[in-house]
Amino acid sequence: MRKQLSSEHLTALLQALIAAGTRVVGPRRVAGILLYEPLITPDELVLDELPRRSVKEAFFPVCEDLLAYEKQGQQLTLQDVDPASFPQTVLVGVRPCDAAAIPVLDAVFSWDYKDQFFLERRARTTIISLACTSADDACFCTAVGLAPDEPRGADLMLTPLEDGGYLAESHSEKGEALLEAHAGLFSEPGAVQPLPLAQPQTLSFDLKKIKAWLDEHFEDESWDGIATRCVGCGSCAFVCPACHCFDIVDEGSEKSGKRRKFWDACGFWKFTHHASGHNPRDFQPKRYRNRIMHKFKYYDDKFGQTLCTGCGRCVRLCPVGIDIAGVLEEIEKKANE
Ligand code: SF4
Ligand code: SF4
Repeated sequence: MRKQLSSEHLTALLQALIAAGTRVVGPRRVAGILLYEPLITPDELVLDELPRRSVKEAFFPVCEDLLAYEKQGQQLTLQDVDPASFPQTVLVGVRPCDAAAIPVLDAVFSWDYKDQFFLERRARTTIISLACTSADDACFCTAVGLAPDEPRGADLMLTPLEDGGYLAESHSEKGEALLEAHAGLFSEPGAVQPLPLAQPQTLSFDLKKIKAWLDEHFEDESWDGIATRCVGCGSCAFVCPACHCFDIVDEGSEKSGKRRKFWDACGFWKFTHHASGHNPRDFQPKRYRNRIMHKFKYYDDKFGQTLCTGCGRCVRLCPVGIDIAGVLEEIEKKANE
């Protein structure tokens, strides 16, 4: 279904959702940093900038409690967190490169083990994405098969129009339901033209060729050259909309505490440190190799998808200037030799 929504009616829509008790999450500035955060009022929404961290934390928080325990004498009490208590949520202003990563995460969190913490949040969330009308020189979504108006992962997609309003297109039953529930705020599409879409870097990768090279070059001297600069800070994994490594840790004492789930990163030395003291990824290039292998080979082998949407966050934030798009270009060049 295609409708039109004025900017005033977008504000009214968010206001109506908040007033009805729906948790509305969108790009909001917190201590100067733009993050996907719950909105208290619609005017907190910032739509002209890519948030620093991705939208994945709406489903997969940086850190969350799984259970609490308490021991009194010989009596141990466990208190579970009930995922069914998670609130109904609308995510708004989600960039296409973030929205497209959500189905990528669905695959891993609903594979052999069904992660109810992720899946219950996912089931209770409607995603309103926003087509991009500006890009910087780190954006490369088109090189990984996406686009500034990619609808993947969106329930409803807003495309900015020349008059400041939006074209609103539903891409799922949840999107249709949102349009129908607030039909009075939407009008039939008129003659107003969409703003020109963003133009990401004009890169073009042959991801099949890159994967074929990775299939054959787990051991290759190029990895030292490609990855020696990586300092294993983990920033790239934390800001990435598709990275999903986590650890589970018990915090507290023998009397009481909590079991918590935290983001982790394969760039960390401890990530693969065995209790025996052995570490199969004992050298930073092996860890960076895993990052590339996981994104462009292992995930594809297992789920038929690439674990990168070209958002460019890791390029912008890597403290030593490693550019994953440049690494892919380098690998493609080797594949062509
Ligand atoms: S952000 Fe850069 S230095 Fe840090 S782990 Fe990633 S690639 Fe390595
Ligand atoms: S690997 Fe980098 S460019 Fe690709 S989705 Fe993750 S943060 Fe974005």
